Amino acid sequence: MIEHPYQALSGGRWLAGNLHAHTTSSDGQRGHQAVIDDYVGRGHGFLMISDHDIYTAVEDYEKYDAQGMIMVPGNEVSANGPHMLHVGAKDWVEPNADRQQVIDEVNASGGGIILFNHPNWHANFNHCPQELFERCEDYVGLEIYNGVISRLEGSPYATNRWDMLLTQGRRLWGFAHDDSHAATGDVGLGWNVVYVQDETAEGVVEALRAGRFYASTGVEINTIEVEANKIRIETENASRIVALKRGAIRCGVADGREIEIEVPEDAGYVRFECWGAGEAFAWTQPFFCS
Ligand SMILES: [Zn+2]
Ligand SMILES: [Zn+2]
Repeated sequence: MIEHPYQALSGGRWLAGNLHAHTTSSDGQRGHQAVIDDYVGRGHGFLMISDHDIYTAVEDYEKYDAQGMIMVPGNEVSANGPHMLHVGAKDWVEPNADRQQVIDEVNASGGGIILFNHPNWHANFNHCPQELFERCEDYVGLEIYNGVISRLEGSPYATNRWDMLLTQGRRLWGFAHDDSHAATGDVGLGWNVVYVQDETAEGVVEALRAGRFYASTGVEINTIEVEANKIRIETENASRIVALKRGAIRCGVADGREIEIEVPEDAGYVRFECWGAGEAFAWTQPFFCS
């Protein structure tokens, strides 16, 4: 049996959005309106301002013109430990050094979700130790791509961390974000494409919680189909698609825009990486196989 988050794709539409952007309220170089205008101009359907330990609430966004873009309340939990995104925040949550405490408070607040950020930041590629990922529970996922780390020490990619956790049987979603700070070079690097049925901040968060999205740096996915033990992915612009199973072992490779695989019996999970030109990728969420 294959369990996956793309089962209920009806009554909504795909919207792209970035959940990780800083403003002059923390260490970003631009004010809120300039950041909002930039993402509107890129055709994004939702955005979260994620200043360091500064909660941007629904009311705060009312001061700005979102031009129809859905604004998601939240912040980046930053002090006292590895950074996490609090997405769809209902309230301020103390950045407790015990990150499980933060996760528990967010889950008790009745709305928001928590994910871990840029795990492979720093020269030792260890902003978020794997041991913390393994110890914590009830968070929804991690950034498998964080754009700003492209110009800092470490790696913007963290699919290695994700595969280790998925291989242990964890059910976690992979996110791609800009983490934009500067006016140029930091924007439009990574985003999530979410199937949104209710076009509100709550609707976006519910879809994210359910994993009804894929992460992208430029490849667009047109079709995700599951039939019995076959999975088919068709993209607009991939040049190679790779399927990975438990242990990050490759179990399918196709050159071109699409792939169809028969899921191996020992798969555990299967996820797809769609590679395009330059640094364009799309990452599906995992399909859990039992
Ligand atoms: Zn951070
Ligand atoms: Zn950040």
